[in-house]
Amino acid sequence: MISPANTQTHKLTNSQNLDISDLDLETRSIRGRVVRMLPDAHLVKIGGQSIMDRGKAAVFPLLREITRLRKKHRIIIGTGGGTRSRHAYSVALDLGMPTGIIAKLGESVSRQNARILHMLLASHGGIYVPNDHLEMLPIYLASGSLPILAGMPPYEYWEEPPRVGRIPECRTDAGVFLLAETLGVRSLIYIKDEDGLYTGDPKKGKKVKLIRKISVRKLLALDLEDLIIERSVLKFMTDARHIRRIQIINGLRPGQMGKALRGEPAGTIIYR
Ligand code: ADP
Ligand code: MG
Repeated sequence: MISPANTQTHKLTNSQNLDISDLDLETRSIRGRVVRMLPDAHLVKIGGQSIMDRGKAAVFPLLREITRLRKKHRIIIGTGGGTRSRHAYSVALDLGMPTGIIAKLGESVSRQNARILHMLLASHGGIYVPNDHLEMLPIYLASGSLPILAGMPPYEYWEEPPRVGRIPECRTDAGVFLLAETLGVRSLIYIKDEDGLYTGDPKKGKKVKLIRKISVRKLLALDLEDLIIERSVLKFMTDARHIRRIQIINGLRPGQMGKALRGEPAGTIIYR
């Protein structure tokens, strides 16, 4: 058995050796600039249910807009899952599958959408990027390509058990947020099928109000019953080092994406 005295001898034999279990204030408050890998790129999430599942009526005009805008802006696309993942989740829940398996199923659906978008955008530089090719992103962007990634975070079997039920709390909205944070991109834009975040789900028939701009802290305090993005994104936003603002726009309305890429108001902005 290792005695406390032994662990002490490990401690700081070299001045850069942090004892990560010793969460003293000094260790936790180490500051300094965090490296941004792609400070000029924009990460754009194309919704699964809200865009892809609507088929060509929604997808084609949006892709035309993207192929036009990508000439001016460096764009990386992340995909959602949508109705197919919800179907897989419901079958898997019914059959007693654990969360790690459900996360794996969701991952494969966002990958299907990435492959579909890759096919549709291939002649415009669309390139499908598997997770283990992430380090190639700078080259892909420098060559004028349009990288497309599956949005689901690859926790898979290692997915955390959710507080309630068995559906993973971190799905594709969370996955693209974490990716944006790691890459240190310039902006993160969620493309959905509503004009932004309302005080409730506009599809449920109740009277709701559009929120143009709100701080993440205030939004958390409102504790809305339903959100247009996964709740886990808000939690990540409060702790993120790079991504201090996200924008949610309506992909069914032409012109919204150009505004968001230029940093102009459109849809809803959530900021910290
Ligand atoms: P995605 O396709 O990116 O997965 P979702 O379908 O999961 O998007 O989320 C978008 C949907 O969220 C909208 O179509 C809307 O019906 C619903 N929604 C729920 N709560 C809200 C809210 N507070 N404001 C706006 N939309 C909401
Ligand atoms: Mg969703």
